[in-house]
Amino acid sequence: MGIQERFEVIIVGGGIVGATTACALGHAGINVALMDIFNPKRQWEGGSVDLRVSALTKASQNILETLGVWDNIVQRGVCAYKDMRVWDAKADGELHFDCADTRFNELGHIVENRVTVASLWDKLETLPSVTCISDAKVLQIQTLGKKRRLMLEDGRSVDADLVVAADGRDSSLRSMVGIDVTGWPYHQDGLVATITTEKSHEFTAWQRFLDEGPLAFLPLRTGQCSIVWTLKTETAKEYLQLSDAEFLEKLESASAGILGRMLKTGARAAFPLRFQYANRYTDENFALMGDAAHAMHPLAGQGANAGLLDAAALAEVAIKAKQAGRPLSSTKFLRQYERWRKGDNLLMMSSMDVINKTFGATALPIVSLRSTGMNLVNNIPLVKSIFNDHAMGLRKDLPLLARQQCCW
Ligand SMILES: Cc1cc2nc3c(=O)[nH]c(=O)nc-3n(C[C@H](O)[C@H](O)[C@H](O)COP(=O)(O)OP(=O)(O)OC[C@H]3O[C@@H](n4cnc5c(N)ncnc54)[C@H](O)[C@@H]3O)c2cc1C
Repeated sequence: MGIQERFEVIIVGGGIVGATTACALGHAGINVALMDIFNPKRQWEGGSVDLRVSALTKASQNILETLGVWDNIVQRGVCAYKDMRVWDAKADGELHFDCADTRFNELGHIVENRVTVASLWDKLETLPSVTCISDAKVLQIQTLGKKRRLMLEDGRSVDADLVVAADGRDSSLRSMVGIDVTGWPYHQDGLVATITTEKSHEFTAWQRFLDEGPLAFLPLRTGQCSIVWTLKTETAKEYLQLSDAEFLEKLESASAGILGRMLKTGARAAFPLRFQYANRYTDENFALMGDAAHAMHPLAGQGANAGLLDAAALAEVAIKAKQAGRPLSSTKFLRQYERWRKGDNLLMMSSMDVINKTFGATALPIVSLRSTGMNLVNNIPLVKSIFNDHAMGLRKDLPLLARQQCCW
């Protein structure tokens, strides 16, 4: 497809969050370009599993369903999880969430990130007002009157009324526009791998809190589990160097045998973890979303889910602005998006931060207090159902798409 030079909206970053935003705007007939440095894979070897997976909430599923993407995701392969078990290795604190206590057949789905991205890009190709530009790197962003111009590495330049940066945690667009971040490293890495276990995962998401951080086993459609093991950075580095047999031995001991023997591991990778948020989500004709706006600890698997809510919220306010005949770059609507999402994201990431710190504590009074807290939540049905709804992304103030309603 020939590259048009001017768009109403350009989204930089075609990961889960950017591609979802493009899809929502495209459904409303908004002239949008989605750019990424890469060309996402649409096909891969059968039986292989992406190292990166996400536990997607009901709210996220609603967004993807309303955009007509979910069926493709399911066809490519997902694993519904019906139970969630969280326990403390140091004390007797325990939490158990069961979908039987909700009105749903499952609590959520474990989806490989490549499956979500490929399904979104498949859908984007069917939307006439969307142009996907892969293998495109942005070098510079300029302000030209009431629009923004992006200069690309290959010499092209493209203009838009609104530029949306969904280019990940180390967003170069964010730096180019001069939006500062607040944050700190956790000095922890999230070590990920695909593991074959002796016992069935029972369609349950398991999480054990250990001294260095939580170890999660997420059920996969292949019967294997995807692990996210939070470790001190030095330990993660060391564990990446171990032989498969040595690594499996460490994992078996850390899992306390809950899934029996650890039989096989695939490739391993570790991601350094940070707490980080952008001090502003918007600038003139510019908005940030997803990890570019907020990076949080993965212990409750909420990063992609929060980004999908950003996508649904920004699309909703942009489409409303367009329907009201207002420019898409209107500061009023950009601020509305920022007010809607910033507080919610900060609350979510701060909660993850507190949980990470509380479980990192070894002082007996704190260990005892957190254990009592977990057991209280587990045993008081009303409190438990509030936690459950939150974990499933079902709270007040959700964008229309997250409530399965069209916003176009
Ligand atoms: C170990 C781990 C486990 C996690 N588990 C979960 C989970 O269970 N559930 C959950 O909700 N979240 C989870 N997360 C968080 C989740 O992975 C992220 O929040 C999510 O992937 C962010 O999506 P994004 O689209 O904002 O950014 P990214 O996925 O980082 O995508 C950014 C895109 O921008 C492109 N790009 C970058 N720079 C440029 C440029 N200059 N020009 C053009 N394109 C560019 C990149 O190629 C990429 O495609 C986890 C994170 C980690 C580290």
